[in-house]
Amino acid sequence: MEILTDQKTISKVLDVRYITENTFVLRIERNRIKFDPGQHMVIGFPGEMENREYSIYSSVKDDFIEFLIKEVDDGKLSKRLKLVESGTELQIQGPYGYFVIPEHDKNKQEYVFVASGTGIAPFHSMIMSNPELNYQLLHGIRKYNEAYDSNHYPIEKHNVCVSQDSGNYYYGRVTQYLKEKKFPVDAVYYLCGNSSMIDEVLDILHEKGVDAQNIRTEVYF
Ligand SMILES: Cc1cc2nc3c(=O)[nH]c(=O)nc-3n(C[C@H](O)[C@H](O)[C@H](O)COP(=O)(O)OP(=O)(O)OC[C@H]3O[C@@H](n4cnc5c(N)ncnc54)[C@H](O)[C@@H]3O)c2cc1C
Repeated sequence: MEILTDQKTISKVLDVRYITENTFVLRIERNRIKFDPGQHMVIGFPGEMENREYSIYSSVKDDFIEFLIKEVDDGKLSKRLKLVESGTELQIQGPYGYFVIPEHDKNKQEYVFVASGTGIAPFHSMIMSNPELNYQLLHGIRKYNEAYDSNHYPIEKHNVCVSQDSGNYYYGRVTQYLKEKKFPVDAVYYLCGNSSMIDEVLDILHEKGVDAQNIRTEVYF
């Protein structure tokens, strides 16, 4: 029996993997939930009203579901999720959203994925689910250690932009990188993360002549 996509379900925590002091990968039971890479789910504690959206981080091929979550200072839910232990029950709803790659476009199109911070989560799911995708991934972060699971992406497709640390990566904001480098005008652009990055990228893409129909956005906050 498949679980209906909109149904609430209880899933147990299987693991919490810390990538940095305040960012972690939360792995839960999949419970036969079907999703398309790029979709998100709504997570809360059973019997409570407070819940939040989180993009699915894992691949459709995995028999668990993962989320990449950053603990927000003074945040109500992310702080509690960071502290859950294996076996804790969470209430899961979804999947939701249209920030996905249409099946018929997957092998035809070139994609440019632009993320800030944990906004890389839906792209990780898309790429792990479809490693053959023709894409460039741009990831804007402040510190080096926020290049989450950078070894999961081929180096030639993964463009990390670090704004507050110097070292081997591009030094500067992802918006600056996009302005400076050449990207195909006819690619499909997917943008995910905070609204100020997305607004700025929309302006840059407009200036570069990218058709608005070829841009998809997912705003986190
Ligand atoms: C479709 C969608 C998908 C999302 N996917 C993810 C995801 O994969 N990973 C993830 O970590 N978050 C994701 N978020 C954000 C998430 O839903 C929560 O907003 C976030 O975890 C803060 O919740 P909180 O209860 O801890 O903080 P709250 O008590 O709700 O809010 C505290 C404040 O923090 C701000 N805020 C929210 N997120 C951030 C952030 N990342 N950095 C700085 N400030 C922030 C809010 O605007 C608010 O002002 C997503 C949001 C949406 C709408």
